[in-house]
Amino acid sequence: MKSSLPPHSKTSPTKAAAPKVHFSSEGKHLLRDMIATNKFGTFFGISQKVLDSVWQALTSPAGESVTYISMEIGADLDVFHPVRNKLNRLEITEHPDEAINRFVQLFLQGPVKIPNYSGGLGILAGDTLKSFADCKIPVAGVSLLYRKGYFSQMVDSKIGQVAWASQWEPKNTPGLYLLHAPENPAQPLTIEVPFYDQAGKQSVACAQIWLKMELNETLDFFVPEILLDFQTPQSPSWIQDAAQHLYDSSSEKVKATQRRLLGLGVIPAMEALGITSRTIHLNEQHGVGVVLSLVAKLLEKKYGPQYEKKATDQSILAAATEVAKRIVFTIHTPVIAGHDRFNVSVYEDLISPFCKRVLNLLALEEHNHSVYNFTAMAMKLNRATNSVSRLHKEVTQKQFPQYADKITAITNGVHHLTWTSDAKAELYDTFPELRNWRKDPSVFTKAAPLHRNKKFRTYFEQAWRTDTKILAEYVTRMLITHRNQRLATWIDPPNYLSYRSEKEATLEHTTFTLGFARRFSTYKRADLIFEDIDRLAAMITENNWPVHFLYAGKAHPSDEPGKDLIKNVLAVQEELYLKSNGLAKLIFIPGYDMHLAKMMVAGCHAWLNSPKRPLEASGTSGMKAAMNGVPNVSIMDGWWVEGYHDGRTGWKFGYEESVSPEHFSEHPSSLLYNEDSASFYTVFPEMLRLFYDPALHDQYIDKCIANLTLNCPIFNTHRMAAEYVARYDLELAPETQQEMEKFRKLYCSEPSF
Ligand SMILES: *Cc1c(COP(=O)(O)O)cnc(C)c1O
Repeated sequence: MKSSLPPHSKTSPTKAAAPKVHFSSEGKHLLRDMIATNKFGTFFGISQKVLDSVWQALTSPAGESVTYISMEIGADLDVFHPVRNKLNRLEITEHPDEAINRFVQLFLQGPVKIPNYSGGLGILAGDTLKSFADCKIPVAGVSLLYRKGYFSQMVDSKIGQVAWASQWEPKNTPGLYLLHAPENPAQPLTIEVPFYDQAGKQSVACAQIWLKMELNETLDFFVPEILLDFQTPQSPSWIQDAAQHLYDSSSEKVKATQRRLLGLGVIPAMEALGITSRTIHLNEQHGVGVVLSLVAKLLEKKYGPQYEKKATDQSILAAATEVAKRIVFTIHTPVIAGHDRFNVSVYEDLISPFCKRVLNLLALEEHNHSVYNFTAMAMKLNRATNSVSRLHKEVTQKQFPQYADKITAITNGVHHLTWTSDAKAELYDTFPELRNWRKDPSVFTKAAPLHRNKKFRTYFEQAWRTDTKILAEYVTRMLITHRNQRLATWIDPPNYLSYRSEKEATLEHTTFTLGFARRFSTYKRADLIFEDIDRLAAMITENNWPVHFLYAGKAHPSDEPGKDLIKNVLAVQEELYLKSNGLAKLIFIPGYDMHLAKMMVAGCHAWLNSPKRPLEASGTSGMKAAMNGVPNVSIMDGWWVEGYHDGRTGWKFGYEESVSPEHFSEHPSSLLYNEDSASFYTVFPEMLRLFYDPALHDQYIDKCIANLTLNCPIFNTHRMAAEYVARYDLELAPETQQEMEKFRKLYCSEPSF
């Protein structure tokens, strides 16, 4: 059915290619306000005034800003592209000024993928930086630029996941600028990170610096992402190789090298740009090497250039304590594979003897002196340690009892403007109850009357149907494309339905659709609900209620058990389809990324999360569903403990008793497949009944709207940023401070803080 929503509101980002217009003087003027220059480059999308004021805040001697370090940052332009939105709104398709026109064309037509992320951690970083930009908090992000991205995924029905390097061209990506040296604009701005071999001989890794501009929706503030790119002719080839793929784990040395490039690149990059942040935020421990630079700086100040010889152990420890006062640390997972531990011997070939001495004092694992433990080091050296949900706080305190007192919780969020679908955004724009939701997600707290507003309920369902149709059509097209490609490539279509008739491979948007998409790793148990196919098929055939199960996600190329999970999902497709008389269609969508995520969370009817409790520290894809009013069905783990609201917003299943260290294992025998899948089978029929039974369907919609009123105000990165700002101890402009307090009042992840 066609959506009968009112015409696009002015701010809607969905406008199709606009007609060419003759240029009004107003349009020219507006565009001139969208270009700005400083000594590092020329930037599009902001006025000179905005560039100057943000830069001034980041470089002021007071240091009232934050440098945010993350191994990965996910901020693809196909899910949030404020500059293109503005060009579309103004119906600008070209510009008489040649320099400006080049930018206009690039921003309207340039590539939209920046494959510098692997999953939740990176997307959280991107969402966080976008909210800092929206809230006008002076922050600079720092990460690496990976020329071959993470990896691109194809899936073959027999082989399973096939990985190959992502193709992308930083230089043709809108909003991504190669900075130039102020004294010589023909040269890129570069920084160096030293490495040492066993004989103490130094070699130098050299990075050029890219700036990805994270602009807010109103284009009057931005957060720069400083991306260090070690693919330079000056870098030794082994460094260039090590820096190409995000999370390359081909050897311990490559892993350790990547961490060093990030951690030791931060201070040189800040100095090259003049960034003065007093506070450094570690988004996970990968960049904790920054502490080494800061310790060296303090010692040099105290002892002069001979500091390496003169410093005593005591003075090194004292410097580390001083540095710790500047560090805020977020820990993201209790899963051991997520904590960096490297054999001391790996460092023989990477660092100087002095650096080794510092690491021996700060990073040696307590009970195993042949290992440096960087999670433990990050845990020790900070002024605030944050876990990412209330339950994760409890878990982290049990994993690190010696730091239990300083571990607090700031529950994650998502950037609501990024994750709200176009159809839902249009809906929210339409109702006065939600006025200003784009700037202020707290307005959703006032949306309770919408529960009884018939017009809202109808419009909500129409917008949802639009999203489901987009998803169903995408998947149908994919199944048919795979079938057609079969003869042209060596890849066998992954999905059973590509081998059936075209009619069978066509998805109906009226069919109940359950979504699951995230990284495929053991503890996330992607195949949990297929434990008993007979039982699952029976509950579907019982009432002839068709179901789509849509799955997506990548496994790290060297994670064999993770890749097996993908095979397991493919392996049950046929059986489930046949046993359910063709009512259950289970489909795996290859190439999970932010765009697909957005389409899925908005278009599904329920969002599934089935991790082993308590290993999902937070999880964020369920929050993205909530932003679209889509209920979750989830294990009581991570954020869902806080977002479940006694069942008003969705369903729970599985183990939920207290947590203790024996639950932290990922061993196959402790994964609780039997128990937790059985629990799912008791919940699933009720979900189908509420969805399909016309007498009960209203209750389903109640749950959807409860997501808007109860979860949208809380699980967004504006509220999360406000909680972090309190930890940063920043001096902000009074109106910014006020805005932050408003968001903070909505929720307190840490009731006692
Ligand atoms: C949100 C997101 C994730 C994280 O999902 P979780 O449920 O938190 O694991 C991973 N990958 C992509 C592409 C996402 O958009």
